[in-house]
Amino acid sequence: MPSDTHQEAIPSRDDTQEVPPPISPQKWRCCHCGGGGLDSYGDTCRHCDGLGFC
Ligand SMILES: [Zn+2]
Ligand SMILES: [Zn+2]
Repeated sequence: MPSDTHQEAIPSRDDTQEVPPPISPQKWRCCHCGGGGLDSYGDTCRHCDGLGFC
């Protein structure tokens, strides 16, 4: 019975693969009104039609 208990120290590799979260389909904030839906005059933004996204 071989008495040489050869224990190799296996380096515990922490390769936790981080999967990026799925990008939900999203419209972009309006570049004109900043997402408020109103222009500087308080009227409905003509760029996004008041939606705030374009
Ligand atoms: Zn816009
Ligand atoms: Zn707008």
